[in-house]
Amino acid sequence: MAKTPLYALETHAEFIGRHIGPRKEDVQYMLEKVGAASLDELAAGTLPPDIQDDTPLDLPRALNEAETLQVLREIADRNQLRHNMIGLGYHETITPTVILRNVLENPGWYTAYTPYQAEISQGRLEALLNYQHMVCDLTGMELANASLLDEATAAAEAMAQLKRINRRSKSDRFVVDAACLPQTIDVLRVRAQYFGFELAVGDPVEELAKGDCFGVLLQYPGADGEVRELGPVIEQAHEAGALVAVAADLLSLVLLQPPGEAGADIVVGSSQRFGVPMGFGGPHAAFYAVRDDYKRTMPGRVIGVSVDRHGRPALRMALQTREQHIRRDKATSNICTAQALLAVMAGMYGVYHGPRGLWKIASRVHRLTCLLAEGLKAMGVNVEQAAWFDTLTLHVGAEAAARIVSTADQAGINLHHVPGQGAISISVSEKTTREHIATLWSIIGEGDAPDLEALDTKLGDAYSAIPAGLQRQSDYLQHEVFNRYHSETEMLRYLKRLENRDLSLAHAMIPLGSCTMKLNATTEMIPVTWPEFGDIHPFAPAGQVQGYRQLIHELEEMLVACTGYDAVSLQPNAGSQGEYAGLLAVRAYHASIGEPDRDICLIPSSAHGTNPASAAMAGMKIVVVACDDAGNVDVDDLREKASKHADRLGALMITYPSTHGVYEERVREICDIVHEFGGQVYLDGANLNALVGLAAPGKFGADVSHLNLHKTFCIPHGGGGPGIGPLCVREHLAPFMPGHPLVDMGGDHAGNHAVAAAPWGSAGILPISWAYITMMGRMGMRLATQVAILNANYIAKRLDGAYGVLYTGRNGRVAHECIIDLRPFKQSCEITEEDVAKRLIDYGFHAPTMSFPVPGTLMIEPTESESLAEIDRFCDAMLAIREEIAAIERGDVDQENNALRNAPHNARDLIPEWTHGYPAESALYPAPGLWHGKFWPAVSRVDNVHGDRNLVCACPPPEAWLDFEED
Ligand SMILES: *Cc1c(COP(=O)(O)O)cnc(C)c1O
Repeated sequence: MAKTPLYALETHAEFIGRHIGPRKEDVQYMLEKVGAASLDELAAGTLPPDIQDDTPLDLPRALNEAETLQVLREIADRNQLRHNMIGLGYHETITPTVILRNVLENPGWYTAYTPYQAEISQGRLEALLNYQHMVCDLTGMELANASLLDEATAAAEAMAQLKRINRRSKSDRFVVDAACLPQTIDVLRVRAQYFGFELAVGDPVEELAKGDCFGVLLQYPGADGEVRELGPVIEQAHEAGALVAVAADLLSLVLLQPPGEAGADIVVGSSQRFGVPMGFGGPHAAFYAVRDDYKRTMPGRVIGVSVDRHGRPALRMALQTREQHIRRDKATSNICTAQALLAVMAGMYGVYHGPRGLWKIASRVHRLTCLLAEGLKAMGVNVEQAAWFDTLTLHVGAEAAARIVSTADQAGINLHHVPGQGAISISVSEKTTREHIATLWSIIGEGDAPDLEALDTKLGDAYSAIPAGLQRQSDYLQHEVFNRYHSETEMLRYLKRLENRDLSLAHAMIPLGSCTMKLNATTEMIPVTWPEFGDIHPFAPAGQVQGYRQLIHELEEMLVACTGYDAVSLQPNAGSQGEYAGLLAVRAYHASIGEPDRDICLIPSSAHGTNPASAAMAGMKIVVVACDDAGNVDVDDLREKASKHADRLGALMITYPSTHGVYEERVREICDIVHEFGGQVYLDGANLNALVGLAAPGKFGADVSHLNLHKTFCIPHGGGGPGIGPLCVREHLAPFMPGHPLVDMGGDHAGNHAVAAAPWGSAGILPISWAYITMMGRMGMRLATQVAILNANYIAKRLDGAYGVLYTGRNGRVAHECIIDLRPFKQSCEITEEDVAKRLIDYGFHAPTMSFPVPGTLMIEPTESESLAEIDRFCDAMLAIREEIAAIERGDVDQENNALRNAPHNARDLIPEWTHGYPAESALYPAPGLWHGKFWPAVSRVDNVHGDRNLVCACPPPEAWLDFEED
């Protein structure tokens, strides 16, 4: 058996001992407590013997932090910076440095979890509410969500929602404006295929005349740059019984009539150019806005205003009952992790610039585009467009197009060579200067260029290429929050004020089951904001992005080594998207061997809600497989259902280790049964933190998995995104991984349809996972898994007796997480899992996962990064809370008015005076260490029902807070 040495926890030059929490002697102590002689023995006695694999991971020796940064610097230097005027949904932008440092580079923001615990998330909830408010204002819509993954998938979600909400049309036809972004059309094609929709791509007016359709997607302005009037097409569509989604450029809406005013039903797009670096494709926040009537069927998370138990305004995530956990295959979409951190940045860009600032930026972009166009006209170049915002398409002929693009490249500018059309397109951005315009003139005119100053004067101040009827008349961003923080001092303090309301990994452990909130190391994060990674356009020519290509290739190889699969696609930009891409690969594979009807997907009842939601999107019928009393898949039931549906069995989706926190003993057998009846095994790899280095899913029977790089591989959660959900497959599925319409990704899958807008999805954050694996090496990766298992078993041991540990596997062990059962307390004294979760806040902790996968329970995952001291502090808190419950059970404390039911407590409970029937000290300072620094929640317990009944999803007027203060 391979031995895992512990000396790495002690050598200070090694990263391994920084990433892993417990010291060498702590590990010995904890091993003793759980009754194992060594980490190897613990793992050997916990995983099923028939999946254990002691072959050392095929990874290089670990590098230390300095070495890693040096190698990454060399990789970054192989990417070449240009001024990017390619456009197509990605633009150069200036990230205000106050936002760069205090949000993007700040663990207080990027290590936060999705704001399920509203009381300790008021900061990012406010930031996301600002974002929603900004999107509503600019699009002219009534309601916006807190982000989706990218513009292309947002458009696909819009198509699905239009079908759901259109009660007038029976048609399955969907019309797509040929002027939509090519990657959007590509993503729509594959979505439509499995939804059973017919996609009609062309001129929307003509396509509408040709026949019925349930919906239309327009691009505003078009990918060619032309600004076309929306009103008449929308009216024509509505008259024909169709509904309309508009994919819009957010910055253009400062100057253009907003789609909402033209009658659009849904507006989507990207907020990337609001201060978020291009990052070779992502991550960026897509926005999604609807009319009020459609709010309850809208995909994604929505932030809303509610009240706390004292009736004060408080924010929280609204309409959560639409989520996948509850609605399963009937959910409004499979999107779970979105792009919270990037939405926060875009919203803050709006806050910092305000309406005047945004107007200046948009006007300057438009002005430079007008100068470019008029100069070209003066040079005799034909500019066909009648109206534009920031983009021009020039049909110059194939030869000239090639010459211009390559000369511009040499001059440091990237232009877009429109495939097959003998045309180029040029997009102006916030970073474009007059020098760039002059350079373009001389390249296009081969030396012959007009005088810029003279042209500027000649055009005059009032000149615009937007017809008067299409110019924006309405106000936007009038709310105080967009008009108050325009000096850096004010902005800095606003950001800090919000940050201070949120509990992040910078405060305490966040023991979220299935979410693996481990260390997001500084060294891993540093390269993300290097311009050589940030300022790269996803469609830049291959020759300019050799660094990225190397990084991607190496990371794919590392993930192959960690999983035992044969091929990896990094395109899916969240776990949900990896699931979808994986199921598409399964379906395409079945079709390729002449069995296209295999559309049944078996899913155990314990599965994460995204599983059934993704299967439904892949056009599959879900058959639920039961679990037995021990929490394992009921293998008899599985065999019966697999055999009953043998002709149509497409796949089994199984999470391993299971969402119950145990390694099912019979997983190999389960895989064999599915294969026996012709199905493929989809293994949800979100829990890979319990497997890396100990067992490889690609070797023990699974055909395909997604991983979550934002869980096991250290990408921070960002308060609800970004994420990356790479698809890992065995060889026979490799030809069916996603491709891209504009970029040759290499390999035999390059020509396939895309599942995301960018070829390698959120490439800009790949350096994080690359650095993690590089610094851990083969030995560190295995050690991390073993310590994750040790930490979880130590917690299970410490809490056992006080609480019931719901499921255990071989030798009474749990995997990397454990579920504790709180249902008995509901019986004995009306205390719920929510009361315990909120009481943990008083002790300074974020609650574990609540009521998933079993209602009335908490699922605890400490990860390997938490130290023994922190884990003990958490266990002490849980045990103290158990004592508090016991006092209620005994009747010593009132069942209604007690520290659990009223939790979390905050300073407002003291003013005007403490009125609870128990001492303030035990409520506010229940553990001794808290006197050194207590985290005070900004609000008391938030009322979710009230918020959903009275849905408000934009910033309330400032008086809403003031009124209360005066009460
Ligand atoms: C987190 C998780 C997912 C979904 O991943 P997202 O990135 O949030 O879409 C799916 N399955 C399991 C078991 C998970 O824990």
